[in-house]
Amino acid sequence: MEWTCDVVVVGGGHAGTEAAAAAARLGARTLLVTPDLERVGQMSCNPAIGGIAKGVVAREVDALGGIMGRATDASRIHFRMLNRRRGPAVWGPRAQCDRALYPRAVRRCLEELPGLDLFQDRVDGVVLGEEDGAGVVGIVTQGGHRVRAGAVVVTAGTFLRGRIHRGTGPGTAGGRAGEAPSVALAEALEGMGFEVARFKTGTPPRIDGRTVDYGKVELQEGDPEDFRFSSYTREKVPSQRPCWITWTGPALRRVVEENLQRSALYGGEISGRGPRYCPSIEDKIVRFPDSPRHQVFLEPEGLDTTELYVNGLSTSLPGDVQEAFVRSVPGLERARITRLGYAIEYDYFPPHQLRHTLEVRAVPGLFFAGQINGTTGYEEAAGQGVMAGINAGLRALGRPSFTLERDEAYIGVLIDDLVTRGVDEPYRLFTSRSEFRLLLRQDNAVARLGPRAAELGLLTDAQETALEDRQAAESRIHRWFVDTRLGPEEAAGLLEEAGAGGITGPTPAAELLRRPGVEAEALFAAATVPAPPPGDSAALRAVEIELKYSGYVERERQRAQVLRARAQFELPESVPYDAFITLSAEAREKLTRIRPGTLAQAGRIPGVSQADLQNLVMEVRKWRGGGTVGPRVRRGASRG
Ligand SMILES: Cc1cc2nc3c(=O)[nH]c(=O)nc-3n(C[C@H](O)[C@H](O)[C@H](O)COP(=O)(O)OP(=O)(O)OC[C@H]3O[C@@H](n4cnc5c(N)ncnc54)[C@H](O)[C@@H]3O)c2cc1C
Repeated sequence: MEWTCDVVVVGGGHAGTEAAAAAARLGARTLLVTPDLERVGQMSCNPAIGGIAKGVVAREVDALGGIMGRATDASRIHFRMLNRRRGPAVWGPRAQCDRALYPRAVRRCLEELPGLDLFQDRVDGVVLGEEDGAGVVGIVTQGGHRVRAGAVVVTAGTFLRGRIHRGTGPGTAGGRAGEAPSVALAEALEGMGFEVARFKTGTPPRIDGRTVDYGKVELQEGDPEDFRFSSYTREKVPSQRPCWITWTGPALRRVVEENLQRSALYGGEISGRGPRYCPSIEDKIVRFPDSPRHQVFLEPEGLDTTELYVNGLSTSLPGDVQEAFVRSVPGLERARITRLGYAIEYDYFPPHQLRHTLEVRAVPGLFFAGQINGTTGYEEAAGQGVMAGINAGLRALGRPSFTLERDEAYIGVLIDDLVTRGVDEPYRLFTSRSEFRLLLRQDNAVARLGPRAAELGLLTDAQETALEDRQAAESRIHRWFVDTRLGPEEAAGLLEEAGAGGITGPTPAAELLRRPGVEAEALFAAATVPAPPPGDSAALRAVEIELKYSGYVERERQRAQVLRARAQFELPESVPYDAFITLSAEAREKLTRIRPGTLAQAGRIPGVSQADLQNLVMEVRKWRGGGTVGPRVRRGASRG
């Protein structure tokens, strides 16, 4: 068979499904090719979406019209807002999902899109145009099919030359448990001259919940609130299930220490780096010798199964050792393992080879997204997928590209970090990666990105209506707080309850809300002016947070403005950094390799100092004006 389409997406994981959906929503004729259509949207590891920073990304993907939020709502069986005791800037919605319902919801969302076709096959290579620099013109599959396309998005996850390890020995070829690796595609991409490196990740054993002694583990119920990841579509949420908590102790430490050399990681079988913040149990025992215990979450895999995910015991130790250490944990003494844990090593492409659009610099029209860019996590993959899909679609349709700045979205932070800083371990998002985390909250994702999505044409009519309703609700609520004044008597009760001092004259509700302990509902109840109509509780929470922290939010907005000014100073691809002798050798080398698009991006490259930035501005101005480059050297300023 031969196809012609606008965009081909290679891989049906979290990056691929979002990329395909985004391109199709823009109106690009899109084909998603993946080796097994039954596994579209499969969760390779824990069936959980969200968490700190990651939960914000899931909401950003949704705000851009993506699938992840809807699929999570339709499959979530346990929900918690993490970090609730800390400020709302770091709240992270997290959902445990039903492993079977999530991919089913993803598939349904894909099949709703008229411009998107799905095809089951493995892609073996990318086809380039014949003229020099012509870029990508399509793909070729293992089944011998050719697809011509204006843009190709590769999202092959952990499959490129994937090798699964459990215990010592060379391991077995595999892209995920029970699935073949993609070797031909890995070789084809390497043959195109890309830099390639290896990372590893791992997964814990699963156990049968009927063999757990629940008297010895701590019950953890989900939050009762009716939270939705999707701001546009109200999916029916399944019934909820609890999780449980237990702890490892000295017995587990003994088992792991005695068998360390039998682990693939410590037996020398794995050379790739793993995620530092998601370590295996072997890593935890070795790296934290003084830690007497480690937390273990027992999380349901679904509604119709007793299987539990043993979060915290990721491992590459052999099966007999896994059984021994699992049974050393209180509550799991008689636990039966249903699936063994394993580690997987795979190829990734160091992401300095990409533009901020996720297009590969060296090959016009070729985009990479997800784990193959050195990240880990479903949300990180989905965030990149949606951006790569948008840009592939825009390119194929001859429209200008779309990027997000660091103060607009965690997705912007993620991509900027990847492209300008590179990775030396599997990259995952944290709130600490953002300098504007009060701006990038989960509650305002739709306010930040919804209008951008609508402008691009990413939203359906129903989604646009939902967006307009939400905006109208927010502006009504906001107006109430700004326009409504409470007198000293009206406010006395609620201020006393909040432990705040009294007021002497009529005071705007917005100002009272800024006082610690004063809540929106209390102000509605105390004011004589009728409260705004009840309705969208998510809109109320978003306005409440925005007003409560307005001073800090405003300060962050001002800092973002400064960065924006730097972002206006563009650095074209052809800047001859090598010739700029006023720059340090390290800065010249890194700028030449990374080729940042703006001065702001240059400033975030480790090793490029403030002095280098000042010199860079002078050099680029001179170069633009046709003057001699590098006549003066100014050194010695502090590192940026
Ligand atoms: C064992 C294991 C443990 C993990 N542990 C964690 C963890 O603890 N925490 C965490 O956050 N993340 C973890 N992950 C990572 C998480 O699964 C990934 O980050 C996420 O799935 C990446 O999404 P992706 O779309 O990039 O790739 P994937 O979800 O892997 O999807 C890749 C897709 O590409 C398809 N594909 C591959 N080759 C081809 C080809 N040649 N042609 C067409 N299609 C192809 C595959 O079939 C698949 O559909 C783990 C992954 C694995 C495998």
